[in-house]
Amino acid sequence: MKITVVGCGYVGLVSGACFASLGNQVTCVDIDAKKVASLKKGKPTIYEPGLEELIRQNLKKKFLVFTTDLKAAVRKSDVIFIAVGTPPRPNGEADLSFVEDVAQTIALEMRSYKLVVEKSTVPVQTGERIRQTLAHHARKGVSFDVASNPEFLREGTAVRDFMNPDRIILGVESKRAEAVLSDLYKPLKCPIVVADLKSAEIIKHASNSFLAAKISFINAISRLCDASGADVEKVAYGMGLDRRIGKGFLNAGIGFGGFCFPKDLAAFIRISEKLGYNFELLKAVEQINEDQKKFFLKKIEEAIWNINSKTIGVLGLAFKPNTDDMRFAPSIDIIAALQSQGAKIKAFDPHAMGKAKEVFKNVAYGSDSYSVCKGSDCLVILTEWDEFKELDLQRVKRLLKAPVVVDGRNLYDPKKMRALGFRYFSMGRP
Ligand code: NAD
Repeated sequence: MKITVVGCGYVGLVSGACFASLGNQVTCVDIDAKKVASLKKGKPTIYEPGLEELIRQNLKKKFLVFTTDLKAAVRKSDVIFIAVGTPPRPNGEADLSFVEDVAQTIALEMRSYKLVVEKSTVPVQTGERIRQTLAHHARKGVSFDVASNPEFLREGTAVRDFMNPDRIILGVESKRAEAVLSDLYKPLKCPIVVADLKSAEIIKHASNSFLAAKISFINAISRLCDASGADVEKVAYGMGLDRRIGKGFLNAGIGFGGFCFPKDLAAFIRISEKLGYNFELLKAVEQINEDQKKFFLKKIEEAIWNINSKTIGVLGLAFKPNTDDMRFAPSIDIIAALQSQGAKIKAFDPHAMGKAKEVFKNVAYGSDSYSVCKGSDCLVILTEWDEFKELDLQRVKRLLKAPVVVDGRNLYDPKKMRALGFRYFSMGRP
């Protein structure tokens, strides 16, 4: 199939490379000329395990092409995926102006039937807007379909997730669109759910909001555990064995971040409001997530007393492990709050320091975990990278000015940490 994917970010780039590896002819388009130049050389501008190799292989086979020329790409493709960003506006609503821009260009360039597919996460009824835009600008007699095919990949395991999805959602309005997309996804052996466009759009927002709710739920439980002396890990394990609940997304910590959960939750709340429903449950999910960061800051204060002029070593900046994505990472608010109270920050992240340097001011970066520990008044863990789990804790203790660890991701066993002589603080565990 001849496919265009518009937007070479986490979703567009991974989707484009994976579609190419399934034997399709894929053109990936981005407005960012620097990004496209780097991609043409086989160098992705994001860190995602397995992606660089996949891009290089398919560039070589000529199954994958990168360009800034959307118009030319539209003319030579049958199926066009829109995978541009849908960032939050200040009021939380999704900013759909990039989606509209792309839809307009597609409309003006269409000379034959095109299937235009929303892959970006968008509020319900966006498909209708895209259809209106295409109809408004398209030449007479040129037919098209609009479909919704939300993406569920997770950063850090994006390629694997794309190739092994739990399900594929196809929001379609014609048999033709259904046939094209079913054919495209046939090689991926998983259930395909065919729905109407609006239901497909809601499936994505509802899924992300539900997962965010699970995280906030266990974080709220962790507060009770902290206050009562119970162990949130035991509680989560006991809950998760119930198949109706499931084990996933029951890790207590400093809350969720990233480019999906916070913005999708906010956008879902706003679109619900527009549709006349006050989604109070999700407002509470948001609030618990915000509170969790404040609660963590209180733990740091409890651990080291005055924050002013203390040096705090921070391990982990990305919003989660195996990605360099800093968007809406909890580290941003936490470091800003510590700095506003006069703390000096030394930080290390295995892959996100390049992007972190664009976000933080006055942070000293270490070359590894141990250099961050050296001379710090306490060590704070913000991202659960595997390599932090493997640290030589005796060495950490020797390097720290005082053996204090405040662990926002529950990486270590509290009993072992205390036996090693640390004052160890974690989330919801005695
Ligand atoms: P991103 O910011 O990494 O990538 C978006 C890309 O679109 C950028 O490279 C940008 O330059 C490009 N772009 C913007 N306007 C353009 C235009 N007019 N023409 C061509 N390119 C344009 O975003 P992302 O993380 O890939 O997310 C994209 C969408 O997918 C969002 O709606 C997001 O919610 C959704 N999504 C993201 C994830 C994830 O894990 N990141 C997972 C599922 C869904």
